Amino acid sequence: MGIHSKIRKLFADYLRSKGFIELPPVILSPITDPLNHPTAAAQVKCYGKTYQLMQSMIFHKQIAMLYLDKIFVFSPNIRIEPSRLRRTGRHLFEFTQLDVEVRNADREEVMKLCEEMIVNVIKSIKREDGDKLEFLKRRLIIPDPPFKRITYKEVYKKYGKKFEIIVSKKADAPVWIVDIPIDAREFYDREDPNNPGFLRDMDLIYPEGYGEALSGGEREYIYERILYRIRKKNMDISRFKEYLRIAKKGLYPSAGFGLGIERFTRFICGLKRIEDTTLFPKIPGRLCL
Ligand code: ASP
Ligand code: MG
Repeated sequence: MGIHSKIRKLFADYLRSKGFIELPPVILSPITDPLNHPTAAAQVKCYGKTYQLMQSMIFHKQIAMLYLDKIFVFSPNIRIEPSRLRRTGRHLFEFTQLDVEVRNADREEVMKLCEEMIVNVIKSIKREDGDKLEFLKRRLIIPDPPFKRITYKEVYKKYGKKFEIIVSKKADAPVWIVDIPIDAREFYDREDPNNPGFLRDMDLIYPEGYGEALSGGEREYIYERILYRIRKKNMDISRFKEYLRIAKKGLYPSAGFGLGIERFTRFICGLKRIEDTTLFPKIPGRLCL
């Protein structure tokens, strides 16, 4: 918890030093990230209206860009994943995502920001918390940017469906997976105009088998494109009507990412299981405090 707490401080300090403003998290809203994998609905009725518990603040980040140009949020997310994921060591059904968004930015810009931020935080932890790392017997290597990049197509061809964990086990430094196919991601990720069928997005994979660190990318911001992408997924437009009403008036282009704080803590501390990163872990399928 000492390192976990320090990590939150270091991320916030770094982002503030670069001119970012912290937004308070949104917990309940009529709109949330639909995600591209199945989760059980988590919703509550308030005053006769249905609110979703936040799966990610993606739409709020885009809307926030109307007012602010660089933001971050420590956003608690509820994702009721299948209970078989309890054994991965990487899944909690309540976790905190460091959500970052930059107005008028492209993918390159946010990838560079991620690299600098992560290197900066790892350096500070090594400098300030060496005793704790020693106690955990963790040998942390400071990665050297720019991190290696592989396209989704390449890794899929090489390693098949379970590429994420294979890439992670083989790597000795963080690796980017870029150009994810349109069907593998959500409708809000921007399709690459120069590479149709692929998105201007990226995942960062930790080395040593720790798996995915973050996802992010450029966003669809043109109303007609957003509608087209929702329809292409055969999703019900009415699910997103509050978002679409705002998008119709005009959104800014933006790019950003969401980095799981517990996963980052697990990686930094070299822990086998994600539930050891926090005091009240929510383990899929279990009754948790
Ligand atoms: N919304 C994404 C997620 O939660 C992160 C992002 O693209 O900002 O996976
Ligand atoms: Mg994601």
